[in-house]
Amino acid sequence: MTLPNMHYADLKDSYLFYDISQKVNAYIERNPQSRVLRLGIGDVTLPLCKAVTDALHSAVDDQSRQESFHGYMPECGAPFLREAIAAHYAGRGVSVGPEEVFVSSGASDELGDILSLFDVSNTALIPEPAYPAYVDANVMEGRKIIHLPTDENSGFLPLPDEKYKAGIIYLCSPNNPTGAVFTRELLKDWVDFANRNGNIIIFDAAYEAFIEDESVPRSIFEIEDAKSCAIEISSLSKTAGFTGTRLGYTVIPAELTRNGMNFNEMWVRNRTTKTNGVSYIIQKGAAAVFTDEGQRQIKENIRVYKNNARTLMNALDSAGMKYTGGRNAPYIWMKCPEGLDSWALFDYLLNEAGIVGTPGEGFGICAKEWFRFTSFGKTEDTEEAAKRLALLFAKRRSK
Ligand code: PLP
Repeated sequence: MTLPNMHYADLKDSYLFYDISQKVNAYIERNPQSRVLRLGIGDVTLPLCKAVTDALHSAVDDQSRQESFHGYMPECGAPFLREAIAAHYAGRGVSVGPEEVFVSSGASDELGDILSLFDVSNTALIPEPAYPAYVDANVMEGRKIIHLPTDENSGFLPLPDEKYKAGIIYLCSPNNPTGAVFTRELLKDWVDFANRNGNIIIFDAAYEAFIEDESVPRSIFEIEDAKSCAIEISSLSKTAGFTGTRLGYTVIPAELTRNGMNFNEMWVRNRTTKTNGVSYIIQKGAAAVFTDEGQRQIKENIRVYKNNARTLMNALDSAGMKYTGGRNAPYIWMKCPEGLDSWALFDYLLNEAGIVGTPGEGFGICAKEWFRFTSFGKTEDTEEAAKRLALLFAKRRSK
């Protein structure tokens, strides 16, 4: 008999987005006239910017002509894109060589695939609430997990502690779902902790483009000594609206070694075995993001999302609600009002105001009293949702 990977049986059923869509569909059936405002799923709504679509069109044309046609692309990424990404890091004062940059089809793919570099005996330390893929990808491999709950007292930021014996440490900044960002000092504490204990940090920088405070690091490699203990995984999904176009990148420093093995060389070996590279067309579109014009245009889109966040934050402020995030992140993480847990609040907002958010419980059991709104919705929906939220919470408070 063929034996399946039985670790899949250890996965907790994740009905989060399924349950949400079932509840929303039932609501629409009951209230066909209602305007449902979706601030739940973290997908973007604005189209790709013109610099990117121009580059995509021209890359399609390249593929139609004999003299500019491209077949298989280099497995680790096209040199033009690896160089553009390295130059982007350099622009922020971070020295990363093109051969340390690996182009991927997105951060989710990479978060799962990268685990093949680590022996299964390494425990994974996952601060929660967290993007659910961290836990599930490790459960699938049968890896032991330390779930490290964080709370509002620490601003949802985990603190290193010698009692954590973990080979792999997940850090995400800006965080999904809490919007928390690491300060330079705290990130340095984690880098020192990892170097001291021989651990490796997987740093998820998928939302770095939303950081507006100059003092907040956008890459772990802005921190001294990080190159001997960290891998950074990033994505154009939220930075440039690539959720459906797909492109991510990973930085594995040349000097990252453990037990005589070099992680960068291992990843080259992995990629050259397990992929045939990302499409030429998509890589051309991605390279346009890193041009001056591309940067200007993606920042315009990010500004729209930031205004949405501001609109929601103003509404929550006016209703006296407690929340984190929104400033350096596209997510607003709100404390549920007294007497409602996150699923009860989900039902309440849907039924009373036609608003769809995401119950905190979906990001870890420690987040049952929290709720996530995204700023990726359409501006007109966000404005309407803000009005309804302010009214609803103000009414609830005055009762
Ligand atoms: N990391 C975090 C923290 C995310 O929230 C997401 C997507 O929502 C991803 C990674 C995945 O991004 P991608 O679309 O590049 O797979």
